[in-house]
Amino acid sequence: MEGGFDGAGAAEVVAELRESFESGRTRSFEWRVAQLKGIARLIVEKEAEITAALDDDLAKPQIESFIGEISMVRESCRFALKELKRWMKPEKVATSVTTFPSSAKVVSEPLGVVLIISAWNYPFLLSIDPVIGAIAAGNAVVLKPSEVAPATSSFFARILPDYVDNSCIRVVEGSIPETTALLDQKFDKILYTGNARVGRIVMTAAAKHLTPVVLELGGKCPVLVDSNVDIKVATRRIVAGKWGCNSGQACIAPDYIITTKSFAPKLVDALKITLEKFYGKDPLESADLSRIVNSNHFKRLMNLLDDEKVSGTIVHGGQRNEKRLRIAPTILLDVPSDSLIMKEEVFGPLLPIVTVDELREGFGLINSKGKPLAAYLFTKDRKLEEKFVKSVSAGGMVINDTILQVTNPRLPFGGVGESGMGSYHGKFSFDAFSHKKAVLSRGFGGDVSMRYPPYTAHKQKILRGLITGNIIAVFLALIGWTRH
Ligand code: NAD
Repeated sequence: MEGGFDGAGAAEVVAELRESFESGRTRSFEWRVAQLKGIARLIVEKEAEITAALDDDLAKPQIESFIGEISMVRESCRFALKELKRWMKPEKVATSVTTFPSSAKVVSEPLGVVLIISAWNYPFLLSIDPVIGAIAAGNAVVLKPSEVAPATSSFFARILPDYVDNSCIRVVEGSIPETTALLDQKFDKILYTGNARVGRIVMTAAAKHLTPVVLELGGKCPVLVDSNVDIKVATRRIVAGKWGCNSGQACIAPDYIITTKSFAPKLVDALKITLEKFYGKDPLESADLSRIVNSNHFKRLMNLLDDEKVSGTIVHGGQRNEKRLRIAPTILLDVPSDSLIMKEEVFGPLLPIVTVDELREGFGLINSKGKPLAAYLFTKDRKLEEKFVKSVSAGGMVINDTILQVTNPRLPFGGVGESGMGSYHGKFSFDAFSHKKAVLSRGFGGDVSMRYPPYTAHKQKILRGLITGNIIAVFLALIGWTRH
């Protein structure tokens, strides 16, 4: 941590970075590539330390850390390095008759000094992935990792400076006071990942400086399951997306299932079989399940389970070990819509199932809640799929699988409504941290007096004709024809 970090410390860091940014050094292609290569090298050289930090923070299974965090960041770096030249190239666009003769282009320019505030659940990925976008776009960056994942936060503070230009990229550790001190400063963009309550705090602080924000929030991600699915494949993909992602502590993990009353018993049986296959008879002992991050979150989850409105609905799991912060994969069937677990984001290993008579009723149910970050549908019915894509609003969607949308760098990742604003990943990250500057360029030839006063009736006819594309009117005005 920056020693005794307070308002003055925050101001000093931002002033230093601003000076570096204004020197112009972050703008060159070479600087950006050197930083991205530094991060790529860090991933290779420090993989064991990253894995150990994730184990400390969340007891994340090694392979999950590798697939869900380390390799994702590696791919992000590789993709940015491969595409950067193209992304940076000004984009030529067509010109219009009113600007003839001219050329026009969109130039991506860096915004300046940006702030990235990260969350604890994928503490490596969610911290460094936006940094990759900010660097690719040529910005100076302050990264504030989550204090709820202290080992990963400390890893960044200790190790990142060895791999990137410390005069332009800084890590500030800390919790609310340090983040508040940073938020008092003027940044040119803030990307925040976390819950919507703090999202509002971030946006309010940003408004003071007219700083634009990307808010990567959460919400309740629904999974609609049709009765016509390949049930074995569907349940494997649901279980992997829910419990195989940090024990459900993932923003795009399935939050609840909607299925028909008649199909629910079959689905529950299949989920139980898959869960036992994946995590054994005593899942509290499974090395393939992450633990709950801390006792506050453990208590929050217990509160959802102990709500009397869901009493008697647990059809699988429910075991817990508070000391070891472990909760077994738990399924609740037919939970009432006014129960806590259906009102709040679960963000843990509990999976409520809501039943309906007709699957399409689920669309209304989803749309009656805040717009989710992700929505999933399992079906073989193409028409239902089309209807789902058209009528359900969500940050992103996957049909017949879960969570895989996050792995394609050509897809934007971000929420809508309550689940956030703005997006990143791949080129979307570059764009999120760039200003799209319109540049119109003209020579001195072809200057027509038509556009300048005095606006005679003759000039007006020609101008109107030109602007409305009425070539005949222009022609007639030019040859001096008037209607009698
Ligand atoms: P968290 O507790 O790590 O908080 C996020 C960040 O906000 C931290 O860096 C923290 O220091 C800072 N913070 C906390 N309180 C603050 C305050 N009062 N003022 C200023 N800063 C403050 O993470 P969390 O909020 O528990 O994260 C879980 C939530 O994030 C869930 O809703 C989840 O769905 C969402 N999430 C979204 C994404 C995404 O990409 N959209 C990814 C992960 C998590």
